[in-house]
Amino acid sequence: MNNQDNNNNQGGNFFNNNPLLVFVIFAVVVIVIFKTFFSQGGLDNFSLSNSSTSTRNVSYSKLKSLIKNKQVDYVTIGNTKIKGMEKSLNSRGTVYVARRVIPDLSLIPDLEKSKISYSGVSEDNVVSDMLFGWILPIFIFFAIWMFLAKKMQKSMGGGGGLLGIGSSKKMINSEKPNVNFDDMAGNKEAKEEVAEIVDFLRSPQRYVKLGAQIPKGVLLVGPPGTGKTLLAKAVAGEAEVQFLSVTGSSFIEMFVGVGASRVRDLFEQAKKVAPSIIFIDEIDAIGKSRASGGPMGGNDEREQTLNQLLAEMDGFSSDGAPVIVLAATNRPEVLDPALLRPGRFDRQVLVDKPDYEGRIEILKVHIKDVKLAKDVVLEEVARMTAGLAGADLANIINEAALLAGRENKDEVAHVDFKEAVERQIAGLEKKSRRISEKERKIVAFHESGHALIAEVTKGAKKVNKVSIVPRGLAALGYTLNTPEENKYLMQKHELIAEIDVLLGGRAAEKVFINEISTGAGNDLERATDIIKSMACVYGMSDIAGLMVLEKRTNQFIGGQSQKDYSEQTAKELDSFIKNTLDERYLHVLETLEENSKSINEMAGELLETEVISGERVREIIKANGGSVFEDEDLHSEKKEKEEDKKV
Ligand code: ADP
Ligand code: ZN
Repeated sequence: MNNQDNNNNQGGNFFNNNPLLVFVIFAVVVIVIFKTFFSQGGLDNFSLSNSSTSTRNVSYSKLKSLIKNKQVDYVTIGNTKIKGMEKSLNSRGTVYVARRVIPDLSLIPDLEKSKISYSGVSEDNVVSDMLFGWILPIFIFFAIWMFLAKKMQKSMGGGGGLLGIGSSKKMINSEKPNVNFDDMAGNKEAKEEVAEIVDFLRSPQRYVKLGAQIPKGVLLVGPPGTGKTLLAKAVAGEAEVQFLSVTGSSFIEMFVGVGASRVRDLFEQAKKVAPSIIFIDEIDAIGKSRASGGPMGGNDEREQTLNQLLAEMDGFSSDGAPVIVLAATNRPEVLDPALLRPGRFDRQVLVDKPDYEGRIEILKVHIKDVKLAKDVVLEEVARMTAGLAGADLANIINEAALLAGRENKDEVAHVDFKEAVERQIAGLEKKSRRISEKERKIVAFHESGHALIAEVTKGAKKVNKVSIVPRGLAALGYTLNTPEENKYLMQKHELIAEIDVLLGGRAAEKVFINEISTGAGNDLERATDIIKSMACVYGMSDIAGLMVLEKRTNQFIGGQSQKDYSEQTAKELDSFIKNTLDERYLHVLETLEENSKSINEMAGELLETEVISGERVREIIKANGGSVFEDEDLHSEKKEKEEDKKV
């Protein structure tokens, strides 16, 4: 971006470059004009400007004595000042000026007595009145305005000046990146998902002639530093198209309408160079849900910008030469639903933090240009950096090289990496983005508990993947299940199996860590919900039999409901829920104890590699003499839809 900024200032005119100076000069000129004008023919025709008079400030008492002694022959009385013109033979007299003391009832009688002619005048400080009354405020206002305009101009990367506030040429960074998919390590799934886009950009005709609509927007979702920008660039690089990037926050300015005009510019520019990719980083800055207006009331500017973005996305057709918008966010949940509708950002690609293997690959990508000592073990660096993102790893390598350089070494040694990792982690721990060893262990056993129960319980969903790579803020780890396709009914034993799986996490903590943690909060809430629904909605308890106790206005578990039962029933319901939970928990504890070998092995592997597959989970259980429950009608080539189970 910088190379474009610099050459702009030379061309800028005087007005643009020196707004403050211009206004200082302007103000001085105005003041001088007023001053001369008013002092010559002004309201006070007591000729002050006469070059031959001199003015002397005196005390009021002195002036009064001058009056009494008839030493002045003409007096003007203003609101605050009184002036006496000295009696003199020619015009070279002195003007005595005194601040009035009010009230002074003897002043006029004294003047009369001394037969001095006098007149009342309006104050002769018109000039300063003007100056302080409105010239100065206007001047200050303009100065501030110019200052802000200049600052904004800078933040936009030069250009435009006052009249070009809305101009966006300089905040859009346009390039043809020479980055490709090989520069992005790990994240295989994400790369596979965007690979299609490369094809759309390269040969749109292939799709268009079949009547297909080329997608317009893809949302890249993931924590900071995981390579979302890199991925977007790689798509442009692979497709060899122009890459226009902006950050969402740069649309938001204090002037309403500026953001919208920038969005228009952005799309115009992209269409000119199509096929092209627009990349909007931090799209949540503009795309925040319109419902969530801040405490200051609605945010007009953001709303207009968002509307313009929606309009642009609906407006262009990607047929001839496509323009595809990639947008990155860390918080897809705050985005306005309108943004996610079909035809807009209807595709989401998860760009997650790398697991152990992924970290090794990323390290390898970034280490290419670094001279390594023989003792460097990348595997160990990867092991030390659990929970860190790609950007952190790139940082660590650079930091290690800097450390080695500082000591004048020829190669970067393992100790440098160790030191660099420690520094990076210390920095991140302050921002609490890394989990401690102790927590990792808890999470590993917790997730192993979920996974084991899921595999050995009849009716539970099979495990697809277990991970202790932290995901977002809420989940420290997760177990993905493979839900059966086209399943609309749940049998009672399946509901109970689900409760068991949910309790598996807490139970594993109890058995293997010997202390329970807050990590099971969400699990317990969901288990409680299921039991409650069994009793209240599905007629699966003895309390009410088939009687429905709660009408759900929403079909799903956890939806809103209308309660319709007595105090007595409420008590029975509570004890039913509690008893069922206790009973299931006991059962799960027993199951885990029976399979303690498997759990220990799974947790150990998780701590090592952070992710293990469902396959591997089943292998471990079988190897330790446990029996995995094979589902009767489980198809082998089942499509793997995934459902999260947070810690
Ligand atoms: P994000 O946009 O998700 O915040 P970036 O794309 O800006 O992250 O990543 C910052 C830098 O981190 C990249 O330029 C790259 O050097 C490094 N990086 C991140 N993820 C990866 C990865 N998967 N492979 C290689 N480098 C990565
Ligand atoms: Zn859990």
